[in-house]
Amino acid sequence: MAKIQMKTPLVEMDGDEMTRIIWQMIKDELICPYIDLKSEYYDLGLENREATKDQVTADSAEATKKYGVAVKCATITPNAQRVEEYNLSQMWKSPNGTIRAMLDGTVFRAPIVVKGIDPVVRNWTKPITIARHAYGDVYKNAEIRVPGAGKAELVFTAEDGTETRELIHDFTDAGVIQGMHNLDDSIESFARSCFEYALATKQDLWFATKDTISKKYDHRFKDVFAEVFEADYKARFDEAGIEYFYTLIDDAVARVMKSSGGFIWACKNYDGDVMSDMLSSAFGSLAMMTSVLVSPHGYYEYEAAHGTVQRHYYKHLRGEETSTNSVATIFAWTGALRKRGELDGTPELCAFADRLEKATVATIESGKMTGDLARITSLENPTKLNTRDFILAIRETMDQLV
Ligand code: NAD
Repeated sequence: MAKIQMKTPLVEMDGDEMTRIIWQMIKDELICPYIDLKSEYYDLGLENREATKDQVTADSAEATKKYGVAVKCATITPNAQRVEEYNLSQMWKSPNGTIRAMLDGTVFRAPIVVKGIDPVVRNWTKPITIARHAYGDVYKNAEIRVPGAGKAELVFTAEDGTETRELIHDFTDAGVIQGMHNLDDSIESFARSCFEYALATKQDLWFATKDTISKKYDHRFKDVFAEVFEADYKARFDEAGIEYFYTLIDDAVARVMKSSGGFIWACKNYDGDVMSDMLSSAFGSLAMMTSVLVSPHGYYEYEAAHGTVQRHYYKHLRGEETSTNSVATIFAWTGALRKRGELDGTPELCAFADRLEKATVATIESGKMTGDLARITSLENPTKLNTRDFILAIRETMDQLV
């Protein structure tokens, strides 16, 4: 059969360790036999980041701005141990952080729902997508350990020298203080990304903060969302038959637990950090999550939510058999190919992405899966496959789906 043609290249960001091995297998077995793959290749593997002084990461983000759609493999974020292991000249920053800062986006994560991998919460029959604001709050804070009695104040000095003060606390003894911030611009682009993604996926959008307690800080988030919605999205939501719903964070958590899923939950930075891990473990595992960075400027970067699966990589290097779950990385590719197809008007590319996803899900539902899933599935007598055989089984299923 003739291969599917692409109009615009995908920005391909290769990565590290076991996910780098999987990356190549997915391309060789599941993508290139079917698609005449056009990609602009950037090697974000740690060795090449070191060789290029991390310029390759910035270049790959620039290419994403140029072409619009990227697919990224998991990468090592160096720590002290990695600096030694890879003999690095610097502790290079997280590529995800660099790319996110350059594209100014929001990350949307959703579980891949498969029969036999049942969510811990029985009524969650549809995926719940988490949108995490990736700027500010406690992640860019200033903290002081208060040694003893004294007065703590919040002081803002305007450019003209005018001071605004707010008493935090009159300490009579030791304690702690924290100062944090956010920006109207960042909150607005977060809101726009969420509204756009809700429209693109035709799902309701929920947003929650603690504005009854945080009457200025959290209230600002609530107001920005409401203003952007009224001005630019209300009519489009009505037309699409979807809803924007604001509530308090505690009420949201209670409602999420009782819901059947099928909506986007926009979370402030800390809430998103905590809730996305809760959701991924409740739905199965990080290897069964899709993850996409959506920029308000219309760029998309698809990735797997998990890391480089270091332990499996060392086994692989020792020549031992591995059973690494490639589902999230496969869905990163299908997400990117489908978006490319939508933007370029090439429906064959979208249909291929649908088929590969269907084949992946069907393979697992037929009882063939990797070890991490075999351990938690409710299917009887699952067949545990090694890393390569799982990918080959998906290919076999896909060829039967034609
Ligand atoms: P990890 O996600 O690689 O592994 C965490 C645990 O989950 C391990 O027990 C692992 O065996 C299991 N696991 C994860 N994905 C799996 C899969 N696909 N199949 C089977 N089991 C899977 O996270 P980590 O061990 O904390 O980090 C390893 C490296 O990954 C670090 O260097 C870190 O910097 C990097 N990392 C990268 C990203 C990213 O680029 N998106 C995200 C997180 C961590």
